[in-house]
Amino acid sequence: MKNIMDQNFCGETVLVRVDFNVPLNEDCEITDDSRIQSSLPTINKLINDGAKVILISHLGRPKKKEKKFSLIHLVSNLKKNLRTNVLFSEDCVGPSVLSKIKKLQNSEVLLLENLRFYKQEQSGSHSFSKQLANLANYYVNDAFGTAHRSHSSTFLVPQFFENKKFLGLLLQKEVDSLKVVLSSPKKPFTAIIGGAKISSKIDVLFSLLNKVDSLIIGGGMVYTFIKSMGGNIGNSLVEEDKLGVALEIIEKAKSLGVKLLLPIDSINAKEFNNDSDIKLSDIRNINSNYMGLDIGEQSIDLFSKEIKGSKTIIWNGPMGVFEMSNFQNGTRKIGESIADATRSGAFSLVGGGDSAAAIKMFNLESKISYLSTGGGALLESLKGEDLPAIKALI
Ligand code: AMP
Repeated sequence: MKNIMDQNFCGETVLVRVDFNVPLNEDCEITDDSRIQSSLPTINKLINDGAKVILISHLGRPKKKEKKFSLIHLVSNLKKNLRTNVLFSEDCVGPSVLSKIKKLQNSEVLLLENLRFYKQEQSGSHSFSKQLANLANYYVNDAFGTAHRSHSSTFLVPQFFENKKFLGLLLQKEVDSLKVVLSSPKKPFTAIIGGAKISSKIDVLFSLLNKVDSLIIGGGMVYTFIKSMGGNIGNSLVEEDKLGVALEIIEKAKSLGVKLLLPIDSINAKEFNNDSDIKLSDIRNINSNYMGLDIGEQSIDLFSKEIKGSKTIIWNGPMGVFEMSNFQNGTRKIGESIADATRSGAFSLVGGGDSAAAIKMFNLESKISYLSTGGGALLESLKGEDLPAIKALI
């Protein structure tokens, strides 16, 4: 696989798949432009080379062409961030785009409208992909957030660019940090998995058991584990149909000699809101009127000791409902322990929308080794499979 530093793109027309799926408020203003920031090094390298840069991305999950999902809302931000002309095309394929490209000067940027205004983007269409591919003579992918999707722009389009397809600098960083974790992790290797549901993370939990020395589980998903072992979890989140899977994970960990760490205590509330009545209890004995919304101090101690003794750490999913101030202590302390371990020489990789939000909320971004821009893509990679968008660049 080639990365864009291997080539000078002066005078070339380059199609760049970025992940500009940024959050917008009701006035269609960007509330967090991290995803744009992450791809600036790639775009700037191409601008500095003198390339004609065509940016393609999706935004949200539009069912039809709707103003609130238009990438036009990103133009002023890009103009501020890039010291060049930034033009916009109201379509992403067709004659109007081709005529805009014809007029594009070296080092100028053309942002195309939301790819998902065409259903062929997600369904994967040869003819739609060919139309996109015909816009340029080089292809660069810098969108890790969608790298696990076999969509037209991520999987099919690059197949039209033999020897003229490249990893962007962000994608290269993501691939490199995954390599550290997956091919030769320094031991002990600890994975911390949290978040709401087991169901979305079953495969990754099973495959992590083949790689890690310790697996720490927290967040809403942990209550299914506790119930599967006969604990009383009150009104806590539970996936009744996953009780068997939880037991299988516990058994598999035992048989492989992987240390599986579950919380000891739980911070419980009567209702799912920040001002609700709060009670701490043993996680196996939660009052029937209460639900567990965070891990307690004993659990934090247990997890933190393990984390601080680790040399490789991955984290996906919060330990509790960190969006509410009374239930964010567990997530904050685990983030801080990962930062401490990193300071002592461990490699830490954190990813997933909520974990990334937590890392930023607690100002820990500069204290971990790498904050991935992917959630689903990171989990898919942790299963040990090559992502479709990466395979398509080979
Ligand atoms: P996920 O997308 O699966 O990583 O889940 C993230 C969400 O899990 C966050 O919005 C958290 O608020 C939520 N979460 C974490 N712990 C709990 C819990 N104990 N009960 C309910 N939701 C939780």
